[in-house]
Amino acid sequence: MKSKIKQEANYLANQLIDMPIYKRCQKCKKALAVDKHHEDYNQPLEVIFLCKSCHKEIHLGKKVNCEEELKSREILIKNKIDIGLVKLKDLLTTIK
Ligand SMILES: [Zn+2]
Ligand SMILES: [Zn+2]
Repeated sequence: MKSKIKQEANYLANQLIDMPIYKRCQKCKKALAVDKHHEDYNQPLEVIFLCKSCHKEIHLGKKVNCEEELKSREILIKNKIDIGLVKLKDLLTTIK
């Protein structure tokens, strides 16, 4: 479902938007832009121009890393709280 919108957006962009020659990547502003990237696939004609590595970064960063990082952070915080509670209990028993 979602990927169909994506496919259509990519198709429309490829058909209707010319890749500018000698345009710099809009993210790093250094490398030459070679890819079109949709911020929103519901807006198939609104693209930003990116170099290959920034494009990759955007997709990996948003979709894969963020969620996994969030999860691992949650686990980390939970562990810290657990350890904190155990220490607190130890402390309380030693005081008694
Ligand atoms: Zn770039
Ligand atoms: Zn993209």
